[in-house]
Amino acid sequence: MSKLIVLSNRVSLPHPDKSTAGGLAVALQDALDDIGGTWVGWNGEKVNHPDEQYFNQTQYNGVEYMTCPLTEKQYQDYYCGFSNNTLWPAMHDRPDLIEYHAEQYETYQKVNQLFAQQLDQIAQPNDIIWIHDYHFLSVAHYCRELGMQNRIGFFLHIPFADLKIWDLLPTASNLIHDLAQYDVIGLQTESDQKQCLNVCHHFLNAQMMNSTEMIHQDRHITVQHYPIGVNPELIQKVAQQQNSTSSIFEFDDFQHQQTIISVDRIDYSKGLIERFSAFEEFLKMYPEYHQHFTDLQIACPCRMDVPTYEHLFEQVKLKVESINQEFSQQDWQPINCTHETVEHDTLMSIYRQSDICWVNSLRDGMNLVAKEYIAAQDRLDPGVLILSKYTGAAEQMPEALIVDPQNRASMVNALNTALKMSKAERLERYQYLINGLKHFDINDWRNAFLKDLEADDASDQFVTPIEEPFKNIAHS
Ligand code: UDP
Repeated sequence: MSKLIVLSNRVSLPHPDKSTAGGLAVALQDALDDIGGTWVGWNGEKVNHPDEQYFNQTQYNGVEYMTCPLTEKQYQDYYCGFSNNTLWPAMHDRPDLIEYHAEQYETYQKVNQLFAQQLDQIAQPNDIIWIHDYHFLSVAHYCRELGMQNRIGFFLHIPFADLKIWDLLPTASNLIHDLAQYDVIGLQTESDQKQCLNVCHHFLNAQMMNSTEMIHQDRHITVQHYPIGVNPELIQKVAQQQNSTSSIFEFDDFQHQQTIISVDRIDYSKGLIERFSAFEEFLKMYPEYHQHFTDLQIACPCRMDVPTYEHLFEQVKLKVESINQEFSQQDWQPINCTHETVEHDTLMSIYRQSDICWVNSLRDGMNLVAKEYIAAQDRLDPGVLILSKYTGAAEQMPEALIVDPQNRASMVNALNTALKMSKAERLERYQYLINGLKHFDINDWRNAFLKDLEADDASDQFVTPIEEPFKNIAHS
């Protein structure tokens, strides 16, 4: 019997008493809990020397976890360096932030090779292998070098950059050739799919069969978009069950105010500073709203070993402090910001109690917060979603208030509209949005990807049928 092997950079081992924070972690945990198989990746720890690096194996609920630490050098060069200082800014359309060091690229390749060797050790010939994200663009190349013939799929959770950006990377051609060793390349959106095909066409001179298939060196490669979803029923249940008072925000204090929730890692792709500047502008333009609403921000620091992120963290803190200093009144502070990571279940309840959710990314593969917020709403009295046009989610959620995070007036107007929106309009928009989420949820995402990955495999054992195509789901 064939099994599923998943590889992702971080593996979060399940904790019986805790729900898992993090979009990718939540999605993969659900998939593996249902299917069973092995999850391989980094355990989040570091060791000083390669001799101390070995894979640890543990089992939980029928899922096997196989993790290893990174050496200090791998952490610096592969993780902080090429993954997060080269590929991340490139894919998020920030050429100004791209740094390239040949040595870091070499380490990136070595780490990809290391994980390919581990896959080779554990995979049976008909096992299916699903590799996740930009940390592992080259793994399939090393698997093929080792003679592995398995079906190997790759899903990119972040955007796919356009050709102009790829052209800035000295190793672009190598990386795209490595990418062509996968059987299925999954992207979040239709526009990412188009960019990917275009870039492959440029570097590989592959034979393009149609808008989802190409042939390169006798390999038929499917390039398709599979927009990652959430589990709306589960989120609805959790959001209702959770105790209405959360330790993070005292909602009792906001009973006579509207609340706006934003949840972001502190990453330049999330448009935090742009959002706070628009919020500041709003406070100046509409003094009549003062004391009638509060902005709640969960801003989680991440990648603090990368100087750009450390610097942004300081900027965010300063911006919040300066707005609060300028506009606070005796019993009112416009922004209530925490840097703590909130447990996933608690977060669902915070969404439900918030009148507006504001997602302001300058570039975002999908943005699960937008989908979770809608899923958590009270069906009879839902809140309003303000959503950046540069998120993958915007492609499927056009009934949100779509904003341009580079245009302050667009954000100020949307906030004004959201605060004033009638219940009838909120209900109408919500109905479209929740239908879309239900129509293509997290299980559909997984099934659609695995169905294409298994295409050559007669046994269809993992997959439940998908009734309809997932395009234009919000309007169906
Ligand atoms: N999240 C969480 N607790 C927090 C902050 C975030 O559980 O304190 C989760 C959130 O529910 C969502 C994920 O982290 O599932 C963030 O995913 P998203 O796609 O919005 O952004 P990413 O951080 O992956 O770029």
